[in-house]
Amino acid sequence: MGEELKEKLVLKREDGWKHVDEKQKKEIMEVSDGYMAFLNQAKTEREFIKAAKKLADEHGYTDIIHKTELKPGDKVYFINREKSMYLAIIGENSIEEHGMHIIGSHVDSPRLDLKPNPLCEEGGFAYFKTHYYGGIKKYQWTTIPLSLHGVIIKTNGEKIEINIGENADDPIFTITDLLPHLAQEQMEKKLKEGIEGENLKLLIGSIPVNDDKAQEKVKLNILNLLNQTYGITEADFLSAELELVPTFKARTLGFDQSMVAGYGQDDKVCAYTSLRAMMNLETVKNTAVCILSDKEEIGSMGNTGMESHMFDFFISEILNKLGINKPNLLDRVFCLSKMLSSDVDAGYDPIYASVSDSLNAGYLGRGITLNKYTGARGKSGASDANAEYVAWIRNVLEKNDIPYQITELGKVDIGGGGTIAYILANKGTDVIDCGVPVLSMHAPYEVTSKYDIYAACKTYEAFWKE
Ligand code: MN
Ligand code: MN
Repeated sequence: MGEELKEKLVLKREDGWKHVDEKQKKEIMEVSDGYMAFLNQAKTEREFIKAAKKLADEHGYTDIIHKTELKPGDKVYFINREKSMYLAIIGENSIEEHGMHIIGSHVDSPRLDLKPNPLCEEGGFAYFKTHYYGGIKKYQWTTIPLSLHGVIIKTNGEKIEINIGENADDPIFTITDLLPHLAQEQMEKKLKEGIEGENLKLLIGSIPVNDDKAQEKVKLNILNLLNQTYGITEADFLSAELELVPTFKARTLGFDQSMVAGYGQDDKVCAYTSLRAMMNLETVKNTAVCILSDKEEIGSMGNTGMESHMFDFFISEILNKLGINKPNLLDRVFCLSKMLSSDVDAGYDPIYASVSDSLNAGYLGRGITLNKYTGARGKSGASDANAEYVAWIRNVLEKNDIPYQITELGKVDIGGGGTIAYILANKGTDVIDCGVPVLSMHAPYEVTSKYDIYAACKTYEAFWKE
C-alpha cells in the first residue's frame, strides 16, 4: 500500500538518463556536438551574435530594418551594436490580444577585460593590465592559457578584429602565480584576497628592441610587432574592447560522455539552445521572441544590456510594421506576454553539498530547472513568478513529457543571485527563470549535463509552440 501511495502521491525525482533509449541518446549527443562546436567559435558576446546572425540568415530571417511591413510567419531580427540581438517570428494570433512568448538569455560571460591603457613593462616582461568583468574567483584565472578576443577601432572608423590563441599555432597568454615554495604569506590570506585584482596582469612578451638608448625596450618591441601586424599604435588601445577568455575548447566530459566542460556556458548554454529551438520553428500561434542580451554579468545596464530601451524599440518596430501601433499598445503587449528567463542555475555539487538544500536544489541530469524566484536574504530583489504562471508552464512541460525541476539557488541566507527576469517582469510580463544547471559556474571551465542541454532545447521549442 505504501508503494502504491508513493507512486500516486509523491513527486518523482529521477535521473533522466534512466529512461533514455539508444535513439534518444544519439539525438542528445548530436545536440551537444552542435553546441560544443558553436561554443568554440563564440566565446565572446560579439562572436556569439555574429554566429547567431549567420544561423538566422541561413534560416530565412531578415533584419527588421529592411522590412516595411510584417505578417504572420515573417521571421525578423534586430542586432544592437554587435553585442545583443532580438529575433522574432510573427504569430498567427493577434499580438494585441495574446501578447508574445519570449525567451531571454545572455551571451556575455565572466572574463578579464584589458584596461584602456593596458600595456606596461616590468622587470624585463611586457604585460597587459586587466580589469575583471563579472563575478569571478580571481585565483581561478591565473596559470591557465588565455586567448585575446575583441576589436580595436581606429579614429577613422576602421575596425580591427582580434582573435589570438584559438588556433593551435597561435601563441597564448597567461597570468603567473607565486610558487608554493615562496607562497607562505600568500597562503595565509583569505581565498578572496590571495590574488589581487591589480595583479591580474597578462604576460605578453620578453624580447627587448635592440637599442641600448631606448626606454622600456620590451614594451617597445611589442608595440612594433602590433604595428606591423595590425597597423595600430599604443593610442588605439584607448578605443578597443579586448577580452581575455580561456583558451580551452569545449569538450565532452566523463568515461560515459555524459557531460560538457567548457568556458562561458553561463549563459551560452541557454542562448544556444533557445536559438537552436527557434531555428526549428516555421509558423507559431503566438509571436515568438528570442532575446540574446549583453551585460547581464555586470547588472544589465548600458545600451546593450537588458535594462536599455532597445528591446522596447524592437517590439515597437514590430507593432509599427504590423500596422497596428497606437498609444499604450507596447505596454499592453508586454502585460499580455509570457517569458522564460533562460539562464543557468547552480547545479547540486556533492563536494559542496553544504550550500544547497537537497530538497530544493537543481541536479544535473534531471532536466531543466525552474527558479520560481531568485534574490537573496529574504528573497530581496527577487522576481517571483505567480503560482498561476508556474502552473501554466508545468502544464506545458508535462503534456510534452519534458522533465523539469523547480529549484532554489542555494540554502536560505547563504547567498543568491539574479537574472534578467525582473526586467521584463517589471513591464508586466509573466516571467520564470528556466535554464540548465551548471557546476563550477563562473569558473574558466564550467560543467553541464548533455541530458539537460537536450531538455532545454525541447523546453524552449514547446514553450514557443504553445
Ligand atoms: Mn547567467
Ligand atoms: Mn552569471
